[in-house]
Amino acid sequence: MNEQYKGLRTHFLGELRKGDSGSEVTLMGWVAKRRDHGGLIFVDLRDRYGVTQIVFHPQMTDEGFAVAEKLSAEDVLKIVGTVDERPEGTVNSDLDTGEIEVNAKSIELLNESETPPFEIRENVEASEDLRLEYRYLDLRRKKMRDAIITRHKFYQSVRKFMSDKGFIEIETPILTKSTPEGARDFLVPSRLSKGKFYALPQSPQIYKQILMVSGFDKYFQIVKAFRDEDLRADRQPEHTQVDIEMSFVDESHVRQMAEELMATVFKEVIDHDLPLPFPAMTYDEAMKRFGSDKPDLRFGVEIRNVSEIAGRSDFNLFQDAVNNEGIVGAVVAEAKGTFSRKVIDELVEFSKIYGLGGLSWAKVEDGKLAGGVSRHFDENLQSELLGNVGAKDGDVIFLAADKTPVALKGLGAIRLEIGRRLNLIDKDTFSPLWVTDFPMFEWDEEAKRYSAMHHPFTSPKMEDIDLLDSDPSKVYARAYDMVFNGSELGGGSIRIHSKDVQSKVFKAIGIGADEAERKFGYLLKALSYGAPPHGGIALGLDRIVTMLLRLDSIRDVIAFPKTASGTALMEKAPSEVSEAQLKELGIKLEPK
Ligand code: ASP
Repeated sequence: MNEQYKGLRTHFLGELRKGDSGSEVTLMGWVAKRRDHGGLIFVDLRDRYGVTQIVFHPQMTDEGFAVAEKLSAEDVLKIVGTVDERPEGTVNSDLDTGEIEVNAKSIELLNESETPPFEIRENVEASEDLRLEYRYLDLRRKKMRDAIITRHKFYQSVRKFMSDKGFIEIETPILTKSTPEGARDFLVPSRLSKGKFYALPQSPQIYKQILMVSGFDKYFQIVKAFRDEDLRADRQPEHTQVDIEMSFVDESHVRQMAEELMATVFKEVIDHDLPLPFPAMTYDEAMKRFGSDKPDLRFGVEIRNVSEIAGRSDFNLFQDAVNNEGIVGAVVAEAKGTFSRKVIDELVEFSKIYGLGGLSWAKVEDGKLAGGVSRHFDENLQSELLGNVGAKDGDVIFLAADKTPVALKGLGAIRLEIGRRLNLIDKDTFSPLWVTDFPMFEWDEEAKRYSAMHHPFTSPKMEDIDLLDSDPSKVYARAYDMVFNGSELGGGSIRIHSKDVQSKVFKAIGIGADEAERKFGYLLKALSYGAPPHGGIALGLDRIVTMLLRLDSIRDVIAFPKTASGTALMEKAPSEVSEAQLKELGIKLEPK
């Protein structure tokens, strides 16, 4: 007894089997359901491990039966009783414990429950907001519990793999100096140094690099990272990542380690074999073929550049795009004649969200273009276009004419929408991919300067170093993203380990020597004391677990998640603080 820390219980509620018949047991748990049946009372008693059926007979003891008669959902009970095989015809094959029941001798009501605001069952009807407000009840549901337990297994699997491979788990501070990774910092005012602030880490990036300078050589950490972004549907202001850094490596070593880690975890947690190595594709190729830096390769529908053909049509929009360094790109929906005018109009509307000025289209009927822009193509040009994109009767060709990146991104979104509408995506497969060779910088129109696409500590390709001064837009980075099913699960890079190159990159993104010294002086100093070549990666734990379980939302794998607007509905955070607290911090609020 108690070999598994059962405390006051003899068994968990998922544990008893036919072989236990006749034994006396002490059970504790929550009332999942109560049914009255011809003088008997049946209770499904639930805990983390399962459900056991308890039977109360009127002859048990008068008070005992009276307690059982008044039980309601989620009351907490202690039962002492005898295990019996269920009478023939009443076996429940859906339950692990479905062949037995426990006939109660005594009952103790350990705690009563208010009537829960929603019934605790798998297909819960409550809104997500209500579930988040009463998260402790929501977490009693099997689906939620299983997700949290899978997450636990994930941690164990990662820790074992990393530790077996010689990685050292090291904690880095949560109260830090701002480490910009492209998002806004969460700030924490300092009481002891009034007027100064800590920042919560957007990632342990600089610390892990400095650990490499320290000679730790292989580091990992399962760690929270905080980004104060305008929230998008499936983001959290705090997320968990598996953060990794290695010394004396190039891209291939980090990628091999990361895919072996993923394969191990997928095997151990959901018994799925991921074939290794993962395929890889450069950023430029991914954009050209799929209009995305995280292409979903579970289906085809690739983008074709049809600028040359479309430029010879008499459609101004196409000619303008081609003459102004843009492109005309096409994707084909093999709709078998199912795309009505209404569906096409919806796709055109949809394309506007992605900034496409206009989405043109033409159906294919009797080996010719029909409707839409078909009249702008003479017969010869029509067959050239059909041949080029490989379209046949029943298909719809969608054409976007715009500046190259805009057209590609727009078509990438249309491609995904076509995949969804035509059911082309096999939901049961995992399709991993490395996207490599990212551009180092992107132009920030608002700030009128370049910013680092990954982060400013990423090493440029050696052959592009000279372009840092002359033409930053042409510099490529030693960065890689791990993409699964069209979703970015992680990203990393080989880092800059030379102080001079680091200063040059800062300069390219508009951070001059003074500002670099103020913000990153400690990193530059560390780099000048024998920093080894190094690189690493961070994998998004919430997203990976969501994918492992094929759930839709990362909130379903986080015990206490925030809503899309960054609030915690159970404890009601963020919240106001007292005048006294503010005063101590030297903070005065502006009147609302
Ligand atoms: N620090 C990066 C991030 O959190 C990952 C990395 O470069 O290792 O996204």
